[in-house]
Amino acid sequence: MSATRVLVLNSGSSSVKYQLLDMADRSRLAVGLVERIGEGASRLLHTPAGGERRERVEPYPDHGAALKAVAAELAADGLGLDSPDLAAVGHRVVHGGREFTRPTVVDDRVLAEIERLVPVAPLHNPANLTGIRTAQALNPDLPQVAVFDTAFHTTMPEYAARYAIDVATADAHRVRRYGFHGTSHAYVSRATAELLGRPVEDVNVIVLHLGNGASASAVRGGRCVETSMGLTPLEGLVMGTRSGDVDPAVVFHLNRVAGMSTDEVDELLNKRSGLVGLCGDNDMREIVRRREEGDERAALAFDVYVHRLRKYVGAYTAVLGRVDALAFTAGVGENSAPVREATVAGLEGLGLAVDTELNNRRTDTARVISPQYASVAVAVVPTDEELEIATQAYALVSS
Ligand code: AMP
Repeated sequence: MSATRVLVLNSGSSSVKYQLLDMADRSRLAVGLVERIGEGASRLLHTPAGGERRERVEPYPDHGAALKAVAAELAADGLGLDSPDLAAVGHRVVHGGREFTRPTVVDDRVLAEIERLVPVAPLHNPANLTGIRTAQALNPDLPQVAVFDTAFHTTMPEYAARYAIDVATADAHRVRRYGFHGTSHAYVSRATAELLGRPVEDVNVIVLHLGNGASASAVRGGRCVETSMGLTPLEGLVMGTRSGDVDPAVVFHLNRVAGMSTDEVDELLNKRSGLVGLCGDNDMREIVRRREEGDERAALAFDVYVHRLRKYVGAYTAVLGRVDALAFTAGVGENSAPVREATVAGLEGLGLAVDTELNNRRTDTARVISPQYASVAVAVVPTDEELEIATQAYALVSS
């Protein structure tokens, strides 16, 4: 029997999340994460399928040490990285620039390209590279596949990807709109077509990926034509801690008037803005609860968040011309009935409505929440980025 397992690694600056999947039946054999790498007492949480969660707290000075510990946990369950059943390691890589339009088997050239993109993804690409190099060292014979967050958006037309700034300056410094969360937008737009029982080529979908980071995309017949994140994940929707769209002059203004440095404004807009900046909380459950108790800051944060969403739904309706479905996904999108309801309230003119009972029902599976009469299907579609990464990596190495 040929190898059907894929280990998915999502390496952050001080963490690694992982899942081992068997693509024969899309089952999960183990899931886990390592936190606080290089920060003293690191923590590894490992859960094999059908087994108890195991915890290890010990110092992992770097990703190499952390991944070695992960490999040991997997080996203890008979799932070691040297197993002949393992077909590939699939790595989430945040920035693939214009170069990477599809998943790619990693070689020295690919590593060098990902390295060249570090200036546009200074926080993420170095951690992703470390993850790849470490996994390579653990088993040099195993194919390492890079799956890029930006790849799904490379089909955006040039007029959607361009900022209206001097072309020579933009091109010299790779300044353009790339978009992120691509594996989620790809997975959810396809799953939405499946939910409607229609070929993906025939369906136009607006996807709202509303997690702690949040982004919208307009997908025509399975191809992305517009997305809300840009050069970096800062543009677009209001997020947990990021502002999303602001007038770029806010940066110069704060620099001139408040004496804030570039790094300070970067930190403000990425870490102290969005929901947390508006009301001190970035958990939508807490915001909805405070709002119901009459808390005005929480109510304002909710309204700013939803207002931005509604503007994007309207804009993407115009971009697509015809919309078949509006799909909500990720932490807030899958779980917050109040956000979904407020996002489409009063938009019957665009063919949008939700059925209150269907909207309030909770399930783990994809479902339609709009009433029969609505011309656009509103859907809740749980995302699964790990499954999408494993699917793409497996398709590449088994073809
Ligand atoms: P994610 O980045 O997709 O894991 O989403 C995380 C965010 O989802 C959290 O910050 C919460 O705001 C939100 N979230 C998770 N569970 C719920 C829930 N039951 N109701 C509302 N929001 C939720």
